[in-house]
Amino acid sequence: MSTELGSKEQSHKWWMERAMRVLPGGVNSPVRAFRAVGGTPVFVESGDGPYIWGVDGKKYIDYVCSWGALIFGHAPPFVVEAVERAMRKGSSYGAPTPGEVEFAEMIAEIVPSVEMLRMTSSGTEAVMGAIRVARGYTGRDLVVKFEGCYHGGADYLLVQGGSGLATFGVPNSHGVPSKIAETTLVAPFNDLDAMKRIFEKHGRDIAAVIVEPVAGNMGVVPPEEGFLQGLREVTAAYGAILIFDEVMTGFRVALGGAQALYGVKPDLTCFGKVIGGGLPVGAFGGRRDIMEKLAPLGPVYQAGTLSGNPLAIAAGKATIEALKKPGVYERLEAQSCKIANGLEEAAQKNGVTDFCVQRVGSMLTPFFAKGPLRSWQDVSRADRSGFALWHRAMLEQGVHWPPSQFEAGFVSLSHDDEVCEVTLRAAHAAFAALPK
Ligand SMILES: *Cc1c(COP(=O)(O)O)cnc(C)c1O
Repeated sequence: MSTELGSKEQSHKWWMERAMRVLPGGVNSPVRAFRAVGGTPVFVESGDGPYIWGVDGKKYIDYVCSWGALIFGHAPPFVVEAVERAMRKGSSYGAPTPGEVEFAEMIAEIVPSVEMLRMTSSGTEAVMGAIRVARGYTGRDLVVKFEGCYHGGADYLLVQGGSGLATFGVPNSHGVPSKIAETTLVAPFNDLDAMKRIFEKHGRDIAAVIVEPVAGNMGVVPPEEGFLQGLREVTAAYGAILIFDEVMTGFRVALGGAQALYGVKPDLTCFGKVIGGGLPVGAFGGRRDIMEKLAPLGPVYQAGTLSGNPLAIAAGKATIEALKKPGVYERLEAQSCKIANGLEEAAQKNGVTDFCVQRVGSMLTPFFAKGPLRSWQDVSRADRSGFALWHRAMLEQGVHWPPSQFEAGFVSLSHDDEVCEVTLRAAHAAFAALPK
């Protein structure tokens, strides 16, 4: 009997069927359901370094890494110890702690555009706070976002462009009132001319432009030379706030984030993922004169019961301390480069010609399309079914890659030479298995 029960509990399908009865789609966040690639998601039993183990006992090399949060891989001992120590002293107080102060000082020292910081429990909340304070500061309502960029689940950011180059947003989720979607303007990524036209028309009503400085949520699309600088100039000319959503890129593409990498200073920055060391976290910060509009100093309300909670702070501090050591980002770059080049080589050797890897640091997307891809329009031409077949073949080979063509894969500091080699051997086999 116990073996019978054991075999059920070792089946992803059995867990998915059970999950479907109590969790919509079986998951707590849609992309995890594997709808874009088909098949059943891996139900994870545990993780260690670059590996996860499924309930079936199978070991996978993981490139999801909690969607980029785990820059040292799963359960790095120094983070586990920091969280254990914090937990013994109490997990949350609803009162200020020295750790929050040290954490904010740490971020402000590494990211010079951040003079003050407010912590939240997710990236979504960080973005909502940043946009609210930008609107409160400027007294304007409109926000500009880019097609293909994702900024969490807030109503006014779940929008897509209508027809035409730069338009008022229309909801891309049911449940978002069109009146709210209309407070957002949608522009094509990497298109400064479109941005200038938007500002010529609406500039005096625009509170903020929010951008993923390296787009990661349509798959990796780097900013073209001058794009971020151009956004800086046009927002400054019209007194609009420039918000870098560095929830994915912060402390990942460089210690100081994309703003350090490209040398452009935003007014506000949103963080999440890496700064929480794998615990639920977010933060937004920037210019002191803007941040001082937040309650209790100013009239812009923002709050959170678990904001700045000691466990997340402990994990975040341990992670950032470790990231400050010399050579860390060079090592991450070298491994990521090896994987990106190796994937392109494996595709080429197997006759897959409409293929390119787009990468900035340790964020990378294998696109089933000829590159370079510079906008949502470009990436949407990629062959999703080719990607889905490749994804399934990789999974069979023991590599857990993000289950969508329009996501980034993440390399961690635990992905060493051997892990890279095994990954590339798997990729070779996966490309070879594709129909010609
Ligand atoms: C993940 C992500 C978010 C949302 O963060 P959550 O913690 O999932 O709420 C926002 N912006 C970007 C760029 C992200 O990658």
